[in-house]
Amino acid sequence: MDIESFLLNVVDVVDETADARSISFEIPAEAPEKFVYKPGQFLTVAVPSDQTGIAARCYSLSSSPHDGGPLTVTVKRTVDGYASNWICDNLKVGDTLRVLPPSGIFSPASLDADLLLFAGGSGVTPIMSITRTALDQGTGKIVVFYANRDEKSVIFADEFTRLAAENPERLQVVHWLESVQGIPSPEQVKAFVMPYLDYNAFCCGPAPYMKMVTTVLRELEFPRERRHQEKFVSLGGNPFGDIEELRLAASEIADNDDGNEPEDAAGEPTLAGPVKLEVELDGEDHTFDDWDPKVKLLDFLESKGVKAPYSCREGECSACAIRLLEGDVRMLHNDVLDSEDLDDGIRLGCQSVPLTDTVRVTYS
Ligand SMILES: Cc1cc2nc3c(=O)[nH]c(=O)nc-3n(C[C@H](O)[C@H](O)[C@H](O)COP(=O)(O)OP(=O)(O)OC[C@H]3O[C@@H](n4cnc5c(N)ncnc54)[C@H](O)[C@@H]3O)c2cc1C
Repeated sequence: MDIESFLLNVVDVVDETADARSISFEIPAEAPEKFVYKPGQFLTVAVPSDQTGIAARCYSLSSSPHDGGPLTVTVKRTVDGYASNWICDNLKVGDTLRVLPPSGIFSPASLDADLLLFAGGSGVTPIMSITRTALDQGTGKIVVFYANRDEKSVIFADEFTRLAAENPERLQVVHWLESVQGIPSPEQVKAFVMPYLDYNAFCCGPAPYMKMVTTVLRELEFPRERRHQEKFVSLGGNPFGDIEELRLAASEIADNDDGNEPEDAAGEPTLAGPVKLEVELDGEDHTFDDWDPKVKLLDFLESKGVKAPYSCREGECSACAIRLLEGDVRMLHNDVLDSEDLDDGIRLGCQSVPLTDTVRVTYS
């Protein structure tokens, strides 16, 4: 099975601010269906590197999936960062970049819902996609609280002004500038949120900002299903690697049975025998009765020819998120799900090994 990466043509490059650029890619003619996306999802790109061959990074799509336009990501330079600076310095129209199809779970379940969108700095990219799409396709009201250091660092300032002017009944954008008002305090954010307690909240930005907003929303008793956040982190691994190598690695682990009680990477015992697995993916049910407890869910599904979503394969993004319907799994590594995600039964398919004889999960 080929790894599902595609070489995309760069069709536009736009300077958004002094340190942020939007890069637009043509949807590949050979597989347009792979690039159908939801607002809030991200692409994983392979930035060439002399040191490591590839530096894989995720970038949220700022474009709307419904306007017929190209796929646009907006990249802000990270001080001393490798990939963001490489993209901003090098990519030009006519170049190509290898990417994985869109993934991620930071997307409204309904575009008709009332949305309370918190953005900080480059965290505005998925928020812009959600705003554009919900205005175009939905019916609800949208309130954007957008925090930046100063006026010149505001990405999409003109676009937000235009959208708000065109949709006065539906969209309200509040710019919070640290240079003018200081860093927003929990009390200020709480006062801001009060009129919107029944909205669906989405938050993306620097870690301290997200933590503060999440704490405020929790204190105001926003239920978990109406609170969403996207964390911007750099991937440590390379999801563009040879899938055959990965499959081989999985079977090598499985073959390496020394007769002792099996242990997982954390040194804790796992099941001895094969596990029954039921997976719901893209409206199809897949059933297996030979899931080796030492093999991770994603690796197992791929060995069976099931094309399950993933990006980093390292437990650092949420592209492979599943929901447990029955049984239990253990994640060998998790850098992205918080305790509430876990309480909701969400797990990362790329890191999950079974803990029970039967496991039933869904990717929806
Ligand atoms: C779901 C998701 C969505 C995201 N969306 C966005 C977005 O819309 N916009 C945005 O700006 N960011 C976004 N990010 C963040 C983005 O993925 C990167 O983390 C960010 O751009 C910083 O990457 P960087 O390589 O520039 O910096 P760093 O990751 O800080 O770069 C430094 C790292 O690169 C390594 N390095 C240095 N030189 C080299 C070299 N020559 N070859 C290989 N490695 C080297 C260093 O060892 C170090 O580990 C998102 C992240 C996630 C998870």
